[in-house]
Amino acid sequence: MLDADFFRRWMTATTAAVDREAERLTALDSPIGDADHGSNLQRGFTAVTAAVEKEAPQTPGALLMLAGRQLISTVGGASGPLYGTLLRRTGKALGDAGEVSEDQFTQALRAGVDAVMALGGAAPGDKTMIDALVPAVDALGDGFAAARAAAEEGALATTPLQARKGRASYLGERSIGHQDPGATSSALLIAGLAEANG
Ligand code: ADP
Ligand code: MG
Ligand code: MG
Repeated sequence: MLDADFFRRWMTATTAAVDREAERLTALDSPIGDADHGSNLQRGFTAVTAAVEKEAPQTPGALLMLAGRQLISTVGGASGPLYGTLLRRTGKALGDAGEVSEDQFTQALRAGVDAVMALGGAAPGDKTMIDALVPAVDALGDGFAAARAAAEEGALATTPLQARKGRASYLGERSIGHQDPGATSSALLIAGLAEANG
């Protein structure tokens, strides 16, 4: 079973990974974006960790909804509302249970990813965070390590794609040949689950 402390560790691990990889995320956002993805997420996840420490939510659902609100209110870029919706919708789907099973979490995360697709209009293959998140949710039934591998593979597979959503889509065919920054940060988020699981 996964309790609020597991989800707190997930956010802490993701914040550390984003800090560690911020320069690389911003570098990936340079040729096909506006070179701010790393700093956007650093600002957002720093706020998430601070709010979770301060408010100490006692249920998985409340913790993820708080995290999502922080991302929406602190990240100016496209990724803030999208990641914020992912965590808020996932948290909402978990309800007010004190602990949730891995199956319940998988279903909730699928609802979260569906909400991101509804908000941003991206489908798999559009060269966005969805290309890491959908394979991760599909693999989550096989465990956190399998989800991490699937997300990393999905992020790498964005390189030959032409972007059809977000800022990178303005480049048309010139977006081909670059790995998507948001898919790369999504792989960090999913890797955080395996880390939180210890
Ligand atoms: P901005 O483009 O506003 O500067 P970021 O650089 O923080 O925002 O985030 C860019 C990432 O957001 C992209 O690499 C992509 O993965 C993701 N993204 C952008 N638009 C969409 C969308 N409509 N649906 C899903 N993901 C998107
Ligand atoms: Mg950007
Ligand atoms: Mg920007």
